[in-house]
Amino acid sequence: AKSRGSNAWCFFHEDMTQAARERLALEARLRRALDLGHMRLYYQPQVDLATGRLVGAEALLRWLDPEQGLISPARFIPVAESSGVIGPLGIWVLNEACRQGQRWRDQGLPELTIAVNVSLHQFLLTDIVGATTQALTESGFPARLLELEITESALAEKPEEALFVLNRLREQGLRLAIDDFGTGYSSLAHLKRFPVDLLKIDQGFIRDIPNSADDMTISSSVIALGHAMGLKVLAEGVETREQLQFLQQKGCDCFQGYYCSRPLPAEDFARLLEKERAG
Ligand code: C2E
Ligand code: CA
Ligand code: CA
Ligand code: CA
Repeated sequence: AKSRGSNAWCFFHEDMTQAARERLALEARLRRALDLGHMRLYYQPQVDLATGRLVGAEALLRWLDPEQGLISPARFIPVAESSGVIGPLGIWVLNEACRQGQRWRDQGLPELTIAVNVSLHQFLLTDIVGATTQALTESGFPARLLELEITESALAEKPEEALFVLNRLREQGLRLAIDDFGTGYSSLAHLKRFPVDLLKIDQGFIRDIPNSADDMTISSSVIALGHAMGLKVLAEGVETREQLQFLQQKGCDCFQGYYCSRPLPAEDFARLLEKERAG
């Protein structure tokens, strides 16, 4: 048993160095991809549940590698975070999202909010206020149409620092959303102090509706809680008509999900906007 134990340690150790090497390689490729212009933003519609109107778009990052094809953010955001690449990458995302939002306005398409994801490291350790100011100024996109999504876990990690940054962003006139709400263990006392506009119910609570009574209770409680605090509530990951009807019944404000559309390249999203304008 003893020798098996040490063998297991050996394998584990080799796996670790292998994993570390792969991480380093990925980090180098990531930096290069950003320089070479291989990053794209896709846009997922956000729909008002009462009117059915398209009211916003969440910008979601994609890495278009010439050899490997589309690489998911779940694979590279963690590496970007721990290596610091998230700094320049996050700035690129903000600039691109604002430029695109302004392009659609210039084309006379219906006005909508653009939501941008901000990671923990980017939120607390980079100059996010400076980066958003610059992106807005350079693009001409109005602050009131830019929404930043910050995960509940990021806010829970350093609530005092988070509150300070949120207040600065709020002074700029931006909208603020708490992403993945319900998964981050933030205390309600902190939540009350955060100057946010929107709670996004994590898709993990939507997925099993209508089969999970617990998830239905949690979702309707989050909707009630958000409304009691004067916030809008958006449900993520809506895939079926039953889920949509449940959320409508509970008075949820907006939704996102495959039931309406997957995230789309900007050109395809513009076609949705043109349809919206047509009626
Ligand atoms: P998130 O912010 O929670 O984004 C929601 C994820 O759910 C997206 O995955 C979206 O494509 C996916 N999704 C949307 N509707 C449905 C649905 O109906 N069913 C299912 N199963 N999934 C749905 P994606 O695009 O792969 O992004 C994954 C995560 O990567 C995001 O989670 C976000 O945390 C992060 N991310 C994406 N773009 C950025 C970015 O520009 N900056 C930062 N910091 N993080 C980003
Ligand atoms: Ca998000
Ligand atoms: Ca989310
Ligand atoms: Ca998530």
